[in-house]
Amino acid sequence: MPKYTAHLLLGTNMGNRCNYLHFALKAIQERAGCIYGVSPVYETAAWGFTNQNDFLNQALTLQTHRQPEELLAVLQEIEQQAGRQRLVHWGPRTLDIDIIAIDDLVIESERLVVPHPAMRHRRFVLQPLADLVPNWRHPVLGLTCEQMLTLCTDDKAIKKYDACGILDSKRI
Ligand code: ATP
Ligand code: CA
Ligand code: CA
Repeated sequence: MPKYTAHLLLGTNMGNRCNYLHFALKAIQERAGCIYGVSPVYETAAWGFTNQNDFLNQALTLQTHRQPEELLAVLQEIEQQAGRQRLVHWGPRTLDIDIIAIDDLVIESERLVVPHPAMRHRRFVLQPLADLVPNWRHPVLGLTCEQMLTLCTDDKAIKKYDACGILDSKRI
């Protein structure tokens, strides 16, 4: 069975945000595969629909035997378990789990687009991903995370957030 390396981004801006990150790490580790790296947690101003609480974001790297669309379905179930409701596009959410990349695959199906199409425009994706896998290279653009970060014009404030304590796969 093939094994994939997937890079995911967690986002939360409702309720106890640290608890939702912790819940996500635990559920992903239990149901989706083996987490072997996590980034620091960042706090970022909301994007798109801006009149809402700030987000916490964290990137993680996962080894998984699940096929890409199957992985997406499991991650969506985990979002549901965290009480995610889709009321407003880009609106507030307890837990969002985006698949940023899977190895150097390029997927454009109805349900799943990988690499995530907005990644290059979002500092809150590129910064934690660059911490985690600075040398991963975008399979279409040919740029590393570091290079995409240098080119990124997103000027939304993003800062490290230490108040959750250390959230990593060894503590879940
Ligand atoms: P954005 O994708 O711009 O960050 P969002 O995360 O708020 O927006 P959602 O409502 O969580 O969007 O997801 C909408 C749909 O996006 C999902 O139903 C899913 O099928 C689709 N999708 C496509 N590509 C991806 C991906 N790489 N990761 C997660 N969902 C994806
Ligand atoms: Ca998202
Ligand atoms: Ca999403």
